[in-house]
This record gives sequence, C-alpha cells and structure tokens, in this order.
Amino acid sequence: MKILVAVKRVVDYNVKVRVKSDNSGIDIANVKMSMNPFDEIAIEEAVRLKEAGVATEVIVVSAGPTQCQETLRTALAIGADRAILVESEAELQPLAVAKILKTLAEKESAQIIFLGKQAIDDDSNQTGQMLASLMDLPQGTFASKVVITDGTANVTREVDGGLEMIAITLPAVITVDLRLNEPRYVTLPNIMKAKKKTLEIIKAEDLGVDIAPRLKTIKVEEPPKRAAGVMVPDVAALVEKLKNEAKVI
Ligand code: AMP
Repeated sequence: MKILVAVKRVVDYNVKVRVKSDNSGIDIANVKMSMNPFDEIAIEEAVRLKEAGVATEVIVVSAGPTQCQETLRTALAIGADRAILVESEAELQPLAVAKILKTLAEKESAQIIFLGKQAIDDDSNQTGQMLASLMDLPQGTFASKVVITDGTANVTREVDGGLEMIAITLPAVITVDLRLNEPRYVTLPNIMKAKKKTLEIIKAEDLGVDIAPRLKTIKVEEPPKRAAGVMVPDVAALVEKLKNEAKVI
C-alpha cells in the first residue's frame, strides 16, 4: 500500500512576517522557510504506518519553486522513501495544488493521501477537501488518530464539539491535526541517507492541469496596532470599567 504525503514549504512559524511596502503581499525575501508543521505530522504518521508494516512506500510531494527540494529532503530524512517536486514559480492556490496532487495520487495508485489540515501561511484549510472532491474519495479531516484495518481507515476527528469517529474506505484523503503524533527529530545519519534517496522533478506545466489562480489578492495590510492595556487596582474597579466604559455587563 502506497501513501502519498503532501508537504508545503512555508515561512517558518517563528518568523514575524512583514507586509510589503506596496501592500501586495508578505515580504518573504531572506526569510527562513520550513516545512508546514502539520505536514511534518503527516509524514510522521505515514512513516509509522510503514514501520508497522501497513504501508509499503511513502512518497512525498511538494509543489512550488526549486527551493522546495530542501523541504522534501527533510521529509526523506524523517523516513519517506522518495520525493516528487512539481516545480512552478507561479503562485499555486489550493485548487491548483489539489489538481496536481490528484494527478500524482492516480499515477501512483496511492491508498492514503495525507495532507496537513492547513498551511500556516495562507491558513486556507482547503486543499485536502478539494482533493477528496476532485478524486471523489472519502475524506477524514482534522485527524487526531488513524487506525488502518482491512482496507478501512478509522479516523478520530477533532471537531468543535469534541471528537468524532468515522470509518472510511480506502483509498481516502486524510488531513492531520496537531495531536495526531509528535514528529521525531531528524538525525544526522538520516539526513545523510536522505541525500541518496530519489527526488524526481516534474514541471507543473507537463502535468497538463490548469493551475491558473482563481483568487486575486487586492491588498494586504497589517492588523491595527492594539492600544496599551490599563492596570486596575481591584475587582471593584474592573467591574466598574466593564459596566460603564466597555458596557459589556
Ligand atoms: P491549505 O489548504 O493551503 O491550508 O493546505 C493544506 C495542506 O495541503 C497542507 O498542509 C499541505 O499538506 C497541502 N499543500 C498545500 N499547498 C501545497 C503545496 N504547494 N505543495 C504540497 N502540498 C501542499
């Protein structure tokens, strides 16, 4: 059973991003980039399934510029078997990525396609759902536990009201949430081993899918600065302010 895992290269979660002076977007020049944290969890889960003998091969895919190779090498160091970069300098929106992943998932006959629940740069939370819809496959989103038995994925989902358990037939799309697992540290020997693993590069235009953007960014602005808070001497003063100034009670 093959597992395909989608990994996105995003601005590192520790970086405080700055808006470009022309308000056209976020300035990512000379900014540290890393693997989307949810995608690390997705790879960890796929590798654990391989180690448990459930999966036979873990293939990682990233769509984006040539620098995504670094991200893919990290994925290989975690334990993926081989990598595919779908190279494109163009902006790739969730629908375009979903179409790219569909082509590869079909080509590889992947039984599970793991994605992060969302990418921390655009916070779209769309790609997995779009992929499941385009491929007409069952989906288990926001997974905090995944158990595979006899062609079925038993997925525990983190939903607003608590946890939901669903059983979906494979092949299926699963998007992973924070509590699914704790990704392992990448060791130096595994980084060295990863250098020898196959990383195939395909040009996005050679896949024959329409990756044209459907959404246009009009303007990106910093959120308004928050005013400084005030210290109140006691509970009575707090209640008085809540009543008379904030008018919330
Ligand atoms: P999003 O819908 O943008 O929040 O992304 C959700 C998930 O889709 C990510 O966690 C990745 O697993 C996958 N994904 C999004 N964009 C890409 C990309 N350019 N290359 C590979 N995977 C991606």
